[in-house]
Amino acid sequence: MLIITGLLLLAPLAQAGPAAPFALFPVVGGAHFTDDWGEPRPGGNRHEGTDLMAPCGTPTVAVVSGTVSLDYGARSGWMLTLRGSSTWYRYIHMNGTHGARSAFAKGLRDGSRVKAGQVVAYVGNTGDAAGGACHVHFELHRGNAVMSPFRWLQQATILQPNASDPATKPDASSGVTLTITGSLVWATTGADGRIVVRVTKVVASDGTAIDRTGLVALRAGAASLGDLQAGETVSVVTTAQAPTSERLDLKPLAWTAASATRSG
Ligand SMILES: [Zn+2]
Repeated sequence: MLIITGLLLLAPLAQAGPAAPFALFPVVGGAHFTDDWGEPRPGGNRHEGTDLMAPCGTPTVAVVSGTVSLDYGARSGWMLTLRGSSTWYRYIHMNGTHGARSAFAKGLRDGSRVKAGQVVAYVGNTGDAAGGACHVHFELHRGNAVMSPFRWLQQATILQPNASDPATKPDASSGVTLTITGSLVWATTGADGRIVVRVTKVVASDGTAIDRTGLVALRAGAASLGDLQAGETVSVVTTAQAPTSERLDLKPLAWTAASATRSG
């Protein structure tokens, strides 16, 4: 009888391990990530966090309840620090399309109290991530120690965009435009107008790298085609849109042209 009682008491203790420092995933809808803790970085540094890859403008949430501070640094770009009761967190490279306004959730200030799950900032590529893929560099700290958040991220609950809470949708004000250069294949105007370009180069206004060639079809929108002829080299600038992954893959008609001009 004593032995059975002992086993029952010991079993949960043996499985418990250290308590999770956070249980919510920082990026709404999830993100791609690998265990990149400790990887070498320029200047002899080691990577002290986990990079969570998601399109620019994707909302991020407080992983615990706490107090935030908002900063800008040359390396970090727009950065949010979240202080919980025993641990603290950093969200680095937040969206800089419109400065602090696109980096942090509306109404948030230094010292604001936030609840776990509340939208606090938007994914970007500011600081030394400029020109690279949009992501959050996420750090976990306890006192002066920085720890890998990887195993906790793997277990964390992912919040999905909530139709009744606009803050959880990609920030429309952080929309990007694309400048698509290439050879005009064909174009039609009007309500169902299309512009088809054989692409040589795509540049996004927020610096997101888009490596894409081949044919891309856009809605003609309000773009005037003037006397552009098939075969000419053109530069098509799109309207600003939230940069979803589908749009960044240049899915057919995912973008609308704002202008189309002869290039070069
Ligand atoms: Zn990083």
